[in-house]
Amino acid sequence: MSRISELILPWFYENKRDLPWRKDKEPYHVWLSEIMLQQTRVEAVKEYYVRFLKELPTIKSLSECPDDKLMKLWEGLGYYNRARNLKLTAATIMTDYHGEFPSELEQIRSLKGIGSYTAGAIGSICYNKKTPAVDGNVLRVLSRVYCDDSNIDLETTKKKYRELLYDLYPEDACGDFTQALMELGALVCIPNGIPKCEECPLAGCCQAHLQGCTHRLPVRSEKKQRTKTDMTVFVFMYQDGEDLYYAIRKRTKKGLLHGLYEFYNVQEALCAEAAMEYVKALGIHADNLIKEIKYKHIFTHTEWHMTAYYITCKQKNEDMLWVLASELSGDYALPTAFRVFVEV
Ligand code: SF4
Repeated sequence: MSRISELILPWFYENKRDLPWRKDKEPYHVWLSEIMLQQTRVEAVKEYYVRFLKELPTIKSLSECPDDKLMKLWEGLGYYNRARNLKLTAATIMTDYHGEFPSELEQIRSLKGIGSYTAGAIGSICYNKKTPAVDGNVLRVLSRVYCDDSNIDLETTKKKYRELLYDLYPEDACGDFTQALMELGALVCIPNGIPKCEECPLAGCCQAHLQGCTHRLPVRSEKKQRTKTDMTVFVFMYQDGEDLYYAIRKRTKKGLLHGLYEFYNVQEALCAEAAMEYVKALGIHADNLIKEIKYKHIFTHTEWHMTAYYITCKQKNEDMLWVLASELSGDYALPTAFRVFVEV
């Protein structure tokens, strides 16, 4: 096992993907990419990453970015707290570290939104330190290589592998070793489906492969059932000549999608008739209900079962925010759960 780095590094140099965040080892870039990649596919992140850095090229510019602009840059990526934490941490780096990203693991780890995995990735990739970054990909590879049926969702298992990996890091290629393990997990020892052992540089020493038990590893906790919420969404529209306006509002309640925009809604399933009565009782100048769409949006822990009613209005209520369809795409961060109703 001590030869893992010798086996995996040549494979990595030969097979690594050309990704925008691999062009340099600037800590701001590595940090941003690691945060964006949490819970999000590489292909989806590429475009966001490039656009984000074009708009906010420095930690200072991120720390000063207005919240609405930040949410717009993040729109569609989901898990919006990641963006809020990025900005908070950028502000901390400006005040506590004179704008320079810290290099000590404990300092990195203390920053908001940065856990053991991200701190380890930054430490090894940017500063060539033996700071293991143990994510789902790495845990899957290691649990198979060692044919270990410890539950990889447990912190004790992650700690065990962080300690074990520390001794396997090569002196002069820590960042490459971190990335090689992740890359092997993403491309060869894949999360869904059968691992491609015939292409794997570790096949000769991988115990799960040698013992024919790759299919039962890694061991994970059973997933909790998601909660389900019924929701009625009102897509209020007002046509003024050629201009089509939508009514939106900002989500002020703390929690899911806080600070982003949404269409008006209530958390209950209303039939079309009840929906129109509800709208009229609110004093909205509703005219006709012209369309109904059902959609289910899945978050990590909850599902929204949404019914959207498209309602034309005779006039715009003054106390509501009415925006043009073009402004909706350009200026307001409308999360995917609501944006789907614009795009249908
Ligand atoms: S040999 Fe197969 S199971 Fe083992 S690490 Fe490689 S891909 Fe994964």
